[in-house]
Amino acid sequence: MSQAQPTTINILPHALADQIAAGEVVERPASVVKELLENALDAGATQITIQVDGAGLERICVTDNGHGIDRENLPKALLRHATSKIATTDDLFSIHSFGFRGEAVPAIASVSDFTISSRTPNSEHAWQVHVRGGVADDVAPAALNVGTEVEVRELFFNTPARRKFLKTDRTEKMQITSLVQQVALAQPQVGFRLELDGTVRLDLPPLSGDLFAAGEQRLGAILGKDFPENALAIDVQRDALRLRGWVSHPTFHVGSNRKQFAFVNGRPVSDRRLLGALKQAYHDRLAKDRHPLAVLLLELPPELVDVNVHPAKAEVRFRHGVDVYGLLYSSIRHVLEQHSTQGSAAGTQEITQAFQAPMAPLPMAPTVHSVTSAGPSYAPQAVGMREAPRTAALDFTAPPQPKTKGDEQPFAEIDSTTYPLGAAVAQVHGTFIVAQAADGLVVVDQHAAHERVVYEKFKHQMATDGVEQQQLLLPEVVELAPEDVELITTRTVELAAFGLEVEPFGPRAVQVRATPALLGRSDVQSMVKDLVEDLHQLKATTSLQERLESTLSTMACHGSIRANRTLSRDEMNALLRQMEQTPNSAQCNHGRPTYVTLSLKDLEKIFDRH
Ligand code: ADP
Ligand code: MG
Repeated sequence: MSQAQPTTINILPHALADQIAAGEVVERPASVVKELLENALDAGATQITIQVDGAGLERICVTDNGHGIDRENLPKALLRHATSKIATTDDLFSIHSFGFRGEAVPAIASVSDFTISSRTPNSEHAWQVHVRGGVADDVAPAALNVGTEVEVRELFFNTPARRKFLKTDRTEKMQITSLVQQVALAQPQVGFRLELDGTVRLDLPPLSGDLFAAGEQRLGAILGKDFPENALAIDVQRDALRLRGWVSHPTFHVGSNRKQFAFVNGRPVSDRRLLGALKQAYHDRLAKDRHPLAVLLLELPPELVDVNVHPAKAEVRFRHGVDVYGLLYSSIRHVLEQHSTQGSAAGTQEITQAFQAPMAPLPMAPTVHSVTSAGPSYAPQAVGMREAPRTAALDFTAPPQPKTKGDEQPFAEIDSTTYPLGAAVAQVHGTFIVAQAADGLVVVDQHAAHERVVYEKFKHQMATDGVEQQQLLLPEVVELAPEDVELITTRTVELAAFGLEVEPFGPRAVQVRATPALLGRSDVQSMVKDLVEDLHQLKATTSLQERLESTLSTMACHGSIRANRTLSRDEMNALLRQMEQTPNSAQCNHGRPTYVTLSLKDLEKIFDRH
């Protein structure tokens, strides 16, 4: 600031003040949809239609069948700080509606070509006001059923800078779709219809029954058909707090936290601590990079929550936050414990401490050794994509073979001193391989270990001759949400480089024609769904390298032996041998150890034999 200039304080014209407010409230087309939806809900609507053209910049039109606004009040709706929802300071601390600031309508109208039409039940026809860039015309008669229709055209026409900050049309459309889905989750008694460029994207009929019963019916439509059958219901009341909702069974998880929704008195909130409590409740049940699905509906007296802390009302503040997070954590823990069949066995500290996760890489096994006949094939590969040769390569993703006689052979025929990871002795709980090594014992997490092996093989194939591909006899159709189909369609070339041939199959499905040969007979359905989650997670700024690794890692996970898969001794030994030849094999792709060792010395110590 130059000191020589005398200060002049300008009182900004209304239109400019509204545009400044719009900067906070109307960040993007989805924020307009959010405000208009909230107004419709506050008006008691039971059916809301949302039409969006040109990703919201061309036109957004929201029609509801709520109680409407009469002629006298219509011009007031356009004024700043004009609201029918609160009147006194006390009201501000006991909010029963979504809106209360009286800001959204004037803010939106200041940055668009805006028409609001409305009709109350005792009016013979509707009334309408048109506003362009904050300048309003007179009220005029119009035709409309009881309810309100707001049409927003040319959003940001007079604030071009704001337009520049918008993401691609696809991103904006996705934002709008997920916003409507989110709002619809907590309002099952209201019907929602979303049309994007004239195509119906969502058509959710109004459901009857209480929030819980009706909500359950809506879950599948929004979170996927398979969520309801994998969901655990929560319904607890502690003092004035009530928590209802659904969380996924620990075996049902996804690769992002995109499917976690929290609502406070029906208001969608993005509260890190609420979702943090959810994460904490699952912390020992899910891998670090896996996330539960959840819909959490928290209800509490409005005076115990301050909703006036965020311009778009996306955050709230609780009077007794600790109680809220505590209730959330303990109720989710409780329902998870009720549904877990495993009791937790406490190991003695001494033993757990004695087990060592390997620090240094394995000494490479001598490759001249002939590995078991079922060993991995590291034969050099032909250039480019090609059919996988039907070698004797192990397919750990295939259903287990019936036991053959050979399996009962004693383990003596592999000399446990020959290989760093020794000879397989047994499989424990279908999940861990116990091996006898030269100076102690090795316990391997079969899934984690195999995942690393597959991942590294993938990387090797990518870096050398390209990924081996296997054509599916029958293309597999995977049903997805339309926005997911679009997303995957934009990445088909990238995915083809990984051996995954996938193409759109109508607006709500993709068809998989070929998969990477390394993945064997893995579950194509769940792999594609996980890849979609991945693609959502990855930002435009993510480097290509990171994108590749993330995709590889997701695929590797699906191509790996699951826990609870019985392995023959040959298979176990083959895996140990593959691990010895794989770089970075001591950690899985998620950084967890793939095996631990316990030396003879430590064993003796534990049993007081020294
Ligand atoms: P707020 O929602 O915070 O009150 P808005 O600027 O969003 O402020 O809306 C101003 C007023 O216009 C509301 O208080 C309400 O009385 C009226 N209004 C807006 N949209 C609708 C609608 N769809 N149905 C009925 N009344 C509406
Ligand atoms: Mg409002």
